[in-house]
Amino acid sequence: MNKAVLNDFYGFVASQPCESCGRTPVQVAHIEGLAHGTVPGTGYYPPFAPRSHTTEAAFCCIPLCDECHQQLHKIGERKYEDIKGWPYRYLIGLALKNLVAYVNTLDLVVDVPKEK
Ligand SMILES: [Zn+2]
Repeated sequence: MNKAVLNDFYGFVASQPCESCGRTPVQVAHIEGLAHGTVPGTGYYPPFAPRSHTTEAAFCCIPLCDECHQQLHKIGERKYEDIKGWPYRYLIGLALKNLVAYVNTLDLVVDVPKEK
């Protein structure tokens, strides 16, 4: 994994408003179920190396202000739905949305295969 890319991504996430309340500044909040083991409640193991913020799992994160970040850790990702109405899969969706938004900021040169 490219640490410089990860740090650049973290910078992008940190530049966004809080996904929960819209405030700034924010922190980079990892979706821990992906970063540290099985997806809660499923027993499903992520398709990339878990248990570390230095693997692909590190890209599974969302911007949260300090208050919302602490609330998420205190309540837990599984029970967050009870408070916020956000199912766990929605947290994953938010992480993917942030990653796609970041990729779209990159000046990528891609060879697109020609149609036959
Ligand atoms: Zn917030």
